[in-house]
Amino acid sequence: MNKHTMNSTNLKPVPMNRKAKTRLTILTGILLLLSGCSEQNDISTAVHDRLQNPQTAGTQQLAPALTEQNTQTTQQPNPPAQNTTTRIPIIMLHYVRDVDKQKDLMGYNLSIAPDSFEKILQYLSKNGYHTIHLSDLENRKVPPKSIILSFDDGYEDFYTTALPLLNKYNFTASTAIITNMMDGTRYMSPAQIQEIDKAGIEILSHTVHHADLSTDPLQQKEITDSKNYLEKLLGKTITGFVYPAGKYNDQTLKFLKDAGYQFALTEHAGYADLTKDLLQLRRIRIDNRNGSAGFIQTLIADNPENSTNKTSPASPAAAPPLPY
Ligand SMILES: [Zn+2]
Repeated sequence: MNKHTMNSTNLKPVPMNRKAKTRLTILTGILLLLSGCSEQNDISTAVHDRLQNPQTAGTQQLAPALTEQNTQTTQQPNPPAQNTTTRIPIIMLHYVRDVDKQKDLMGYNLSIAPDSFEKILQYLSKNGYHTIHLSDLENRKVPPKSIILSFDDGYEDFYTTALPLLNKYNFTASTAIITNMMDGTRYMSPAQIQEIDKAGIEILSHTVHHADLSTDPLQQKEITDSKNYLEKLLGKTITGFVYPAGKYNDQTLKFLKDAGYQFALTEHAGYADLTKDLLQLRRIRIDNRNGSAGFIQTLIADNPENSTNKTSPASPAAAPPLPY
């Protein structure tokens, strides 16, 4: 600035027409220089302001790149409120089929009737729930009203009955596969598993032989072989595991970690707590014994966000344990 002022004050007298011309030239030059200086100064000031005081820095005089950068920076001190929770209901299901209770009590207890299953999906849909996968739990927090629908054993009626209903309500699910039981009759075939994987269903490992991991001396093989098989079949990494009949010991946890599993589902009842071990997540068992009414009651009663919840970790409406 001083340089421009000095030049204009040190001018010597010149003839009228030349003087006027020179003045005009000098004035134009000064204006241009001042203009350039001013613009440069505005950018420097703005960048300085942005670094010193991100909330009040102006954006109007900035070039597009700087404006964009400025906008991003100004948003950082005031991020939108984090609307997340560390508790999530993970539902445990087996068969979705009609079973005659008198003829097959165990089968009945392991199943939920398709119309009851649909009532559950209707309830979830009407009440704003959205289904997610185990792999979505990596950050240990989820949006409220998230839910995981897990199906154990990979029965064929997941493909024929559950999946069409899930699709109808735009829901997804996670299915645990026993890798030597993919016969295509009682259980889904490898081709069906590939198909549901492509349809967006999360595939979990459920060992090779539905082994009792609390006693099986070959438990590490059960854990790793089933993972390797599914990864080869689907061409992707399997990170989720389900303990057969909910049984495991301390060694199981170590073997799961060593194999690269990140999430494992138990049969301990209640909402899953994402602040705790992700290899020992709780679940809520739903079958014909509690049905859709029991499901809704358990979902509400066991919800840790619910101040009237006096029955945590599992309400009486949760279905009792079974050896599957
Ligand atoms: Zn099972």
